[in-house]
Amino acid sequence: MSEAYLWEFLDTHDDITIVDSFVKANSVINNPCYDTILCSISGGSDSDVMLDLIHRVDLNKKVKYIWFNTGLEYQATKDHLDYLEKKYNITIERERAIKPIPLTCKEYGQPFISKFASEQIGRLQKHGFKWQDLPYEELILQYPKCKSALKWWCNVYEAKAGNSRFNISRNKYLKEFIIANPPTFKISSKCCTYAKKNVGKNAVKKYNGDLQIIGVRQAEGGIRATAYKNCYSISEDNIDNYRPIFWYKDDTKERYEDKFNIVHSACYTKYGFKRTGCSCCPYARGLEDELEITRIFEPNLYKAVNNVFKESYEYTRKYREFVQLMKLKEDKTQIKGQMTIDDFLEGASNG
Ligand code: SF4
Repeated sequence: MSEAYLWEFLDTHDDITIVDSFVKANSVINNPCYDTILCSISGGSDSDVMLDLIHRVDLNKKVKYIWFNTGLEYQATKDHLDYLEKKYNITIERERAIKPIPLTCKEYGQPFISKFASEQIGRLQKHGFKWQDLPYEELILQYPKCKSALKWWCNVYEAKAGNSRFNISRNKYLKEFIIANPPTFKISSKCCTYAKKNVGKNAVKKYNGDLQIIGVRQAEGGIRATAYKNCYSISEDNIDNYRPIFWYKDDTKERYEDKFNIVHSACYTKYGFKRTGCSCCPYARGLEDELEITRIFEPNLYKAVNNVFKESYEYTRKYREFVQLMKLKEDKTQIKGQMTIDDFLEGASNG
């Protein structure tokens, strides 16, 4: 497919990353080997930029836009989807969760701290684990079918890979906290599985997709971004994957937004969020701020999340207080230690 038409909306002064992304997008989207291309729309700011780019190069209208409704979404996001449909004259298919988040939390448990930690805690709970601080070799005899979660609990990866993300020590004082306050509610990572991951897999089957597009950027960091090495991956037995704005840094994205007048949802322009996703997910770092903003702008959703994640919020707050206390203790011990050395030095010079 000739690239000449791209210069209708690009010019020679444009950011080279933006120009590159158009050239690549043109060659991927218009490649005749793809019949049905599925593009995941989240309603977030990265997704807005990606949609604009893809829509401009999709000459044969092969792209199908899909949004996954997790069951705990901001009204601002839903309104934004309506806006995008009108703006680009497209349809964004709303795919319902296999099990909405409230139902999954009730059936399997609530998410807590992080996806990985929730998965391990959930496994230990299933095996009736007693949250003992014993060596792995002893615990594996008691819980022989719980190998990987026990490895996490006992920090066995530490020697090999420093403070590995597969160890509980990755979350400071989490082990000490759980030993002192064993969870009294079910913890699980399943809500991502039924509201997002498996819904995506089902959509690929439903629409018979042969290429999947997502708006991930390397610069966003985190597990989602670091899972990929570049913008395109071909799969022999699965669907190919394309990440059109993978190389966009924050300033590239800003230049794109200015050039093409991208308008983001009220989650950004009114509420002041820096990113969006499921409303008030217990994994969110700025959870308390997010809850407060949701209370002000989306009071019904605020009630819903407090109901669905009640125990997880309480447990998270308790854990954060515990961490503060432990840090205070740590500081005091250090000061005490320093004073002893100072006293010793003073004593030595006097002597
Ligand atoms: S991001 Fe959070 S709230 Fe959303 S599905 Fe995953 S765990 Fe649940």
